[in-house]
Amino acid sequence: MKILAMGTVKSDPHLYCGDECGRGCTHEEYNRALSAAVTAESTMPGWTANVWENMGWHWNLKRETGVVHWVLHVNDRGRWECYNELTQCHRIHTVGCDTPQEAVQQAIYAAAKLIRAARHELRVLSS
Ligand SMILES: [Zn+2]
Repeated sequence: MKILAMGTVKSDPHLYCGDECGRGCTHEEYNRALSAAVTAESTMPGWTANVWENMGWHWNLKRETGVVHWVLHVNDRGRWECYNELTQCHRIHTVGCDTPQEAVQQAIYAAAKLIRAARHELRVLSS
């Protein structure tokens, strides 16, 4: 679990907000993000939860290996997405999934489809 606040956190009974954010983020928002991240991380072995502040508290799951940085998160519509944050390849960016497992599986299918297409192009170019 990685937690990143924006600067020094001002903490009182209500607020939990970094001085470089200044939005007025609350303990409730922080605790909600932390709880969701912990729950999601427990269902996805090999993925690390991240909680961060940027005009509110947010969270996601990441799986980083070398230059491959996969991200899993719940979008504004409450649906799971999976994408590589470095390549931002829209052809492997899955959206609208019910579960993180489904989002990963859809990304695997999309990556396999992309590889098949690239192999076909290579055969055509090489013949
Ligand atoms: Zn804040």
